[in-house]
Amino acid sequence: MSTTTPHSPEAVAKPTNFLRQIIENHLDNGTHAGRHWGGGPGDAAHHAAGPVDTAKIRTRFPPEPNGYLHVGHAKSICLNFGLAQDYDGICHLRFDDTNPEKEEQEYVESIKDAVRWLGFDWQDAQGHSHLYYASNYFDFMHRAAVYLIEQGLAYVDEQSAEDMRANRGDFTTPGKDSPYRNRSVADNLQRFADMKNGLLADGAAVLRAKIDMAAPNINLRDPAIYRIRRATHHNTGDAWCIYPMYTFAHPIEDALEHITHSICTLEFEDQRPFYDWLLDHLRTGGLIATPQPRQYEFSRLNLTYVITSKRKLKHLVDSGTVSGWDDPRMPTIVGLRRRGYTPAAIRNFCERIGVTKDYSWIDYATLDGCLREDLEHQAHRAMVVLDPLVLELTNWAEVFGSSDHIEACHLPALPHGKDDADVPQRHFGLGRHVWIEREDFEETPPKGYKRLFPGNKVRLKGGYVIECNGCEKDADGKVTKVLATVVPDTKSGTPGADSVKVKAAITWVAQHDAVQAEVRLYDRLFTDAQPDAGGKDYLALLNPNSLKVVTAYVEPSLASAQPDDKFQFERFGYFVADRQEHRADRPVFNKITGLKDSWGK
Ligand code: ATP
Ligand code: MG
Repeated sequence: MSTTTPHSPEAVAKPTNFLRQIIENHLDNGTHAGRHWGGGPGDAAHHAAGPVDTAKIRTRFPPEPNGYLHVGHAKSICLNFGLAQDYDGICHLRFDDTNPEKEEQEYVESIKDAVRWLGFDWQDAQGHSHLYYASNYFDFMHRAAVYLIEQGLAYVDEQSAEDMRANRGDFTTPGKDSPYRNRSVADNLQRFADMKNGLLADGAAVLRAKIDMAAPNINLRDPAIYRIRRATHHNTGDAWCIYPMYTFAHPIEDALEHITHSICTLEFEDQRPFYDWLLDHLRTGGLIATPQPRQYEFSRLNLTYVITSKRKLKHLVDSGTVSGWDDPRMPTIVGLRRRGYTPAAIRNFCERIGVTKDYSWIDYATLDGCLREDLEHQAHRAMVVLDPLVLELTNWAEVFGSSDHIEACHLPALPHGKDDADVPQRHFGLGRHVWIEREDFEETPPKGYKRLFPGNKVRLKGGYVIECNGCEKDADGKVTKVLATVVPDTKSGTPGADSVKVKAAITWVAQHDAVQAEVRLYDRLFTDAQPDAGGKDYLALLNPNSLKVVTAYVEPSLASAQPDDKFQFERFGYFVADRQEHRADRPVFNKITGLKDSWGK
């Protein structure tokens, strides 16, 4: 019988990919229907899932808590949590914490934050939390290892590390059997107990699966499954001095949690035969439930100008190259967040780049495009001056009766529906002294220059038309002040506004109500589009100009900006009030990205 299950509207609306097709086939064929979520044989270790639930599929995101997550992980999070959302499933957040030396609680917390910030959750509709730790299964894993020994499928190897490496062979040479390979079951059980009971030194022995030292796939040449490591674990403390290897632990974690689709990056493709070997044996032995999970691989995200290796990112932090994991130049999720990228932009980005098995590089401009799309209609506009030069309106007193007169001006905070009364307005004043951008004045203008030069008229955006009359300079010839006169009755929004035609409107902030702010102008962290490819030394490719800090003047509407508020600074791009350091009395804004793509330049 084949009935067609209608998939959720979300699932149908999204562009399909090979994983969606696999899942839809499974749902159509009832592959996982009637699956016994609770109470399978393996459930001894699986208490947390609570009563039987109705999930149609189960995926998991299994980070190792040894660093902060990066944009590549975001792809995996969006994929795994997204599939679960779209197909009435559940995605587990599982900490793959089998490597005690490198793992820390700080990382655990940061990973939970990152997943939640991206808009995902590990609670199911019944309110059960699906947050798991590989380390909670250490007892079961140990039992599974003992089972393999009992079946003659694992042995304790006491070769030196060098011998083990030499005897593994390589792509062209088969491996050689270890002299310990044919130990008796009783011997192996004893030696494994000795390992566990701390009778052997770190590194003195490993437990290996007994498969085939001549297998063409090197991962099947008796892979190590347990090692001795006297290290305090962030969760289990000093309870263990032996720890399971990742390749052994991971399939077991998936099986105990009844994962249906174990989705990982392509570098694990060669591990799949061992994944299946192990679970086949454990199922035969009645240690895990059926059907057992399957692994599916997709290609990892490679993003231009970005490094996605936790180890290398950690080096940038530890060496002080960046200010921390959340430095706004970092491709970490905390870095992207502090830089001003929004969860919606990152989710759209992950959707847009798709899921395939092809090796490819994604242009960083794609991420920026998603950010602009998200902020275009919601980020309030503001005028700022990043490279300030004073402009004096010399006829101000004449025109307005007093040199202290302030003319009230306003502009819409959002671009659309100018005549729409609902559009919020920003209010600011115009007075005799104004900050303008240094580059908006030229004493001897190049051809085609339309902004301020003696004799030319421009509009102060949202204010008046002014005519430039010259400038003042210091002893070095540097311009210190631009002089202009205001043209009466030309204020924006008044009937006279169009009486004088100008070719340019420039951004400005009046001196009397300008707010001083620190603006951090970020650029890409590396000068090379693939700083980590082909054996390149990424540290030699750092962009010396990845951060430029300027003291700017910003319009008064920004005085009430809260940390994390995003804006479009007219003509410059999108900016965010720094979530760590922005304060009302000391504003700090980060540049997220420009108005248009300039990465290609
Ligand atoms: P790193 O190499 O940076 O340390 P990792 O793969 O070792 O990354 P894990 O914590 O093991 O880090 O990763 C958790 C999950 O995220 C894994 O399933 C992994 O496949 C996935 N992942 C890691 N990097 C990427 C990437 N660049 N693109 C897509 N998925 C990724
Ligand atoms: Mg990993």
